[in-house]
Amino acid sequence: MIPYIANTFPPQCSTCNVTLSVKHMLLHCVRYHEERRPLAAYCQSHRLPLTHTTLLGDEHPDVVDRLMIYLTETSLIREL
Ligand SMILES: [Zn+2]
Repeated sequence: MIPYIANTFPPQCSTCNVTLSVKHMLLHCVRYHEERRPLAAYCQSHRLPLTHTTLLGDEHPDVVDRLMIYLTETSLIREL
């Protein structure tokens, strides 16, 4: 379990006080704002919407590479 998840159900993001989800961690959590910046810039420069469909779909393997960098820099890769 991710250490900062509050002991509630459904789990809450203790930084943002919203229901925790993969989508939240990838797209919205302010905790990872800095690490997300290059990923967002990449999507923007390729005219791709920064959505979980873009990040996790099969259509954009180049984006998945950036996503892996994001997951590594945020240490989320160890939590998933
Ligand atoms: Zn959050």
